[in-house]
Amino acid sequence: MSKVRKIAVIGSGITGLTVARNLQGEGEIQLYDKSTGVGGRMATRSKEGHYFDHGAQFFTVRTKQFKEFLRPFISNDKVARWEPKVLGFSEYGTSHKRYWFEEHYVGFPKMTSLCKQLAKDVNVNLSMTVEKVEPVGDKNYLHFANKKKPLAFDWVVAAMPAAQILALYPDSFGSALNLEKVKMFPCYTLMLQTARKVQPLIQAASVQENIIRWISENSSKPGRHPIPTYVVHSSYDWAKDNTHIDKLHVQNLLEKNFCELTGLDHEYIEQSDLHFWRHAVTETPADSASYIDRTLRLAACGDWCSGQNIEDGFLSGMHMSENLKKALI
Ligand SMILES: Cc1cc2nc3c(=O)[nH]c(=O)nc-3n(C[C@H](O)[C@H](O)[C@H](O)COP(=O)(O)OP(=O)(O)OC[C@H]3O[C@@H](n4cnc5c(N)ncnc54)[C@H](O)[C@@H]3O)c2cc1C
Repeated sequence: MSKVRKIAVIGSGITGLTVARNLQGEGEIQLYDKSTGVGGRMATRSKEGHYFDHGAQFFTVRTKQFKEFLRPFISNDKVARWEPKVLGFSEYGTSHKRYWFEEHYVGFPKMTSLCKQLAKDVNVNLSMTVEKVEPVGDKNYLHFANKKKPLAFDWVVAAMPAAQILALYPDSFGSALNLEKVKMFPCYTLMLQTARKVQPLIQAASVQENIIRWISENSSKPGRHPIPTYVVHSSYDWAKDNTHIDKLHVQNLLEKNFCELTGLDHEYIEQSDLHFWRHAVTETPADSASYIDRTLRLAACGDWCSGQNIEDGFLSGMHMSENLKKALI
């Protein structure tokens, strides 16, 4: 009798969960993530009872494949449409509020809700940081932090930012595929809970010529608590030039600029927190939807393969799992 094939997927974001779900039935699939919860950059942070979607803000649906995949989750209330009025701040002043021209969706009632639902069909192992993937003979060994015992797999799929994959995989993997050329922008995220809403109301705003590039009223998203909460993303270029400055200084600067842009008096800020995303969104993508090395039996995928958003992560995960199924025949 042939032995059951063992496949490890590293990363519980939209890409890794798509891969792990799609490979069910192809062997024993184990998914590992270093975090305490699933979702990756589709993240929600709770602070003293308040919730902030501090990573991805929303997602658009541009392909038939993604639309069909999402349909049951929209029906089951895990995903909902968000229809804020969107404001533009630029050097020319403030543009009129308007609705988006295409549909925008969010996890319901949190950004993590979709990934939590996807994870129900998968063996997920959380708080498991993979430090190294080492090919030995016809196996790949996953080495974990905290001296956990290495585990052997037939195949390993890494679904996370390219730089994080290169840090785990043998050098020969990345150099053969030219993955070093992939670049990601960092981003600082400020999370604010305020005593009152910004007036006039701002539900979502895109900002130019400022250290801030995005503001959203988190509490305006469907299913969120009405106490005013705001998520503020820094400009990617500014974050790239300022990765090493003091985090308290960044927090103060973002708060100051938020108050100047919105007109909110600083004394109305009741809670403030900062998060730094080292690998936030793709600056230079790769040139394939996913990567498989059949000799090493290692694979890589993620939004960075051909884009920079949630739908790109899903498409990369689908591409990877379909190609891997062919390689397993
Ligand atoms: C600030 C910000 C704003 C964004 N805005 C939007 C937006 O509005 N719309 C949109 O569509 N997209 C947006 N994005 C991009 C979107 O979040 C990503 O495209 C998508 O979430 C990528 O999913 P992924 O599964 O490929 O990677 P990730 O979500 O990054 O998942 C990778 C996972 O791997 C895990 N991991 C990493 N290293 C290890 C290790 N060594 N061991 C174990 N686990 C590990 C991580 O914990 C993580 O859970 C934004 C991202 C950020 C950060």
